[in-house]
Amino acid sequence: MPDHQEISPCQTCGACCAYSRSWPRFTIEDDGDIERIPRYLVDEDQGGMKCHGDRCAALDGDIGVATACSIYEVRPVVCRSCQPGDEECLMARRRHGMSPIEVAAGA
Ligand code: SF4
Ligand code: SF4
Repeated sequence: MPDHQEISPCQTCGACCAYSRSWPRFTIEDDGDIERIPRYLVDEDQGGMKCHGDRCAALDGDIGVATACSIYEVRPVVCRSCQPGDEECLMARRRHGMSPIEVAAGA
């Protein structure tokens, strides 16, 4: 879930957080970054977020209705880089039967 704190389409979506269990993996995080994430939300191999099926365990709410990342401030890098309207976003929303996001210029 990207870094859009104001009114964001992500708050009524959550599709990329429930796209694949291989999505919220750690990449350039160091040990300190991972330790800031509650242990029970980290996968046993410490390689990424714990998932239930394809859904990240840190995702709160109902997909397509109202969602939030319960560890927003310390979420993995991959979650920060996905932005509304980018390729990953479009794929995830399509998977969940949601229409593409159209992002205003300069957003
Ligand atoms: S799929 Fe797109 S709109 Fe939905 S939460 Fe992810 S980045 Fe936001
Ligand atoms: S850590 Fe947060 S932003 Fe990343 S996939 Fe899980 S719920 Fe989504």
